[in-house]
Amino acid sequence: MAARPAPVPNFETVSIRTQTERSQHREHSVPMFLTSSFVFDSAEHARALFAEEQTGLVYSRYGNPSVDEFIEKLCALEGCEDGIATASGMAAMFGSMAALLSSGDHIVASRAVFGSTHSVLTRILPRWGIGHTFVDPADIEGWRRAITPATRMLFVETPSNPGLALVDLESLAQLADQHGLILNVDNCFATPYLQTPARWGAHMVTHSATKFIDGQGRVLGGAILGPRHLIDDVRSFARATGPALSPFNAWLLSKSLETLAVRMERHCQNALTLARHLEQHRGVSEVRYPFLESHPQRELAARQMRHGGGVVTFEVVGGLEAGKRFLDGLQMITRSSNLGDARSIATHPTTTTHCKLTEQERQAVGITPGLVRLSVGLETITDIIADVESALQNT
Ligand SMILES: *Cc1c(COP(=O)(O)O)cnc(C)c1O
Repeated sequence: MAARPAPVPNFETVSIRTQTERSQHREHSVPMFLTSSFVFDSAEHARALFAEEQTGLVYSRYGNPSVDEFIEKLCALEGCEDGIATASGMAAMFGSMAALLSSGDHIVASRAVFGSTHSVLTRILPRWGIGHTFVDPADIEGWRRAITPATRMLFVETPSNPGLALVDLESLAQLADQHGLILNVDNCFATPYLQTPARWGAHMVTHSATKFIDGQGRVLGGAILGPRHLIDDVRSFARATGPALSPFNAWLLSKSLETLAVRMERHCQNALTLARHLEQHRGVSEVRYPFLESHPQRELAARQMRHGGGVVTFEVVGGLEAGKRFLDGLQMITRSSNLGDARSIATHPTTTTHCKLTEQERQAVGITPGLVRLSVGLETITDIIADVESALQNT
């Protein structure tokens, strides 16, 4: 196995100063290349490019300088060798599985995965003969027991959405190596600023860039990162099937990475302050946040993550109706299903993002009827707390 990358010590500099292209105008900021195709110097040049004897730009489904710049920056920040940018996070999740697995293969996945990832595993991949087993993410022995001779991949989100359960990435990577499996980690909630899965031995890192990486709720995007031998297979799959990220979105996301560190610092500071406040509130029966003393995996969180992240999940006393009344009582915080925005967003998972799960499946991952997921934004923390307080009066 390749040596593990160290965390990027100068994260801010790398995120700001990685620049692959300047045009002949020598612009200071990053240029945007909105073009679907590129020009060949000669018929022979075109032939050599298509024959893959020469590398170069051909068509934006294959590669584009704005997209390449975004992915190069993200690879540097995650400590990954190579990567592919995709049009959405789900194109990344699906692509990372579909490109590397075949009929008869099997995935062991955390029970606590994003709703659409759950659908890919349960409704789409089985139609092509790719099976799965869900396990309790925190139970390493459970992961081990679920591995069969057909297993090729372990898939996990940490922290999970919306329950904020953590997985010990180092132990899971060791397990994957023992069995020759690919450990694929959805690092959307943490971002490379808080956690770099490759450092703990994960083989692939997948992202929804729509969330904290964009950070302002403007565009969809995603990425699949990993060692070159795996990404080569993902690249040929992506070139043929076309999940390409738009150059415009890539340009925005590349600019967004420049401010990721400072934004995450404030998201996390606001989230921890709110989580501590909610723990004292009579209208709230449980608060989940990785850096709270009460989080059952607090020690692991401190080892694996820089801070606790920008999402706080809590249980409103009074169940389903109280959860809905809480959302309706908010004045400033937006009712929406997105997260990772500068604007604070409240979501009621039972009736929205996780409504496709059965009651039993929701119970198994701790999505109770009164659960609220709050993506804590960058507004003044006293205003965030005041809005949450007044909505809780409404429950
Ligand atoms: C949002 C999200 C996704 C899907 O990303 P899209 O960009 O919406 O397709 C995948 N995983 C996690 C953890 C997410 O929060």
